[in-house]
Amino acid sequence: MAGMDRRSFLRGVFLGAGGVMAGAAGIKALSGDFKLYTHPMELVDAIPEMQPEMKLILLGTGMPMASIYRSKPAQVILAGKKVFLVDCGAGVVTRLVEAGIAPERIEDVFITHHHSDHNSGFENVLISSWNSGRSIPLNVYGPGNTRDIIGKLMEHLSWDIHLRLAQAKNSPEGAMVNYTEMEEGIIYEKEGVKVTVFPVDHGIVKPAVGYKFEYKGKSIVISGDTLPCENMVRYSENADVLVHEAYSKRWLDRVLKQFPEKRAMVDGITQYHSSTIEAAEIAKKARAKHLVFTHLIPGVAPVWYFERDWAKGASDIYTGKITMGRDLMVI
Ligand SMILES: [Zn+2]
Ligand SMILES: [Zn+2]
Repeated sequence: MAGMDRRSFLRGVFLGAGGVMAGAAGIKALSGDFKLYTHPMELVDAIPEMQPEMKLILLGTGMPMASIYRSKPAQVILAGKKVFLVDCGAGVVTRLVEAGIAPERIEDVFITHHHSDHNSGFENVLISSWNSGRSIPLNVYGPGNTRDIIGKLMEHLSWDIHLRLAQAKNSPEGAMVNYTEMEEGIIYEKEGVKVTVFPVDHGIVKPAVGYKFEYKGKSIVISGDTLPCENMVRYSENADVLVHEAYSKRWLDRVLKQFPEKRAMVDGITQYHSSTIEAAEIAKKARAKHLVFTHLIPGVAPVWYFERDWAKGASDIYTGKITMGRDLMVI
């Protein structure tokens, strides 16, 4: 089976098994030359190794509250042969596999800030990517407290890592982490991919940053968690895609009406996040070409009429394309 056919076949098998969609390509390939692949990772690594254009896959569009529809915040950016993971909320590895990306392809993790909904999947990312074949240190990029906080997670893992080194003979290098802490400037530049980090305003949660990815003249900006701030406008100027966190004030007002005792929780949200209207204003000021809502608060079910109601008003302000992010959406 030729390389592309095999990939199509595997994608078809994988997506069919995952219940996301039954790929027509997979059904077609079944009539061809069949081969049983015994390495489980081959079944999930269905995303082509080379991406001529930069691509974004949303892995988690949820928030700290648990949801079966929306995993906690995470996304990957594919550019050339690289797969960049931005944030790693709980559930990230499951979503990676569902997206058809073998965990071993994750060598670079960018963290926006250390709220647990953004880093609690880190240990699973490290171990899964290492166990499935990553044999070089994991590069972790983030704001100034990254070495301290991820270092503690690594300390927590040390007993498990020791066992795997002794028993499974995993590569010792794969258990290591290289840290790059930076809050403003070019944090990564290799093979035509440039990543710029910039400070955002996540209220009392300091430090917190956003990232801008550039490849072959296209740009994708990830806000992380933030109140509306000047840097979001500055770094999103003319961006091809702006992935911005958002809460729906209309929906939070309804929550309060029904559950007045949730006042402190709702006030907390509005003190360090952006509303759909505020995110739309940022996209408008920055002249971004496409606005994608993520980190949706409250976590609306992925049903179009709910989602439209949730985001109502945003398109009165920003007239460009607006997408309600959903887990496993490819942009
Ligand atoms: Zn946060
Ligand atoms: Zn968050």
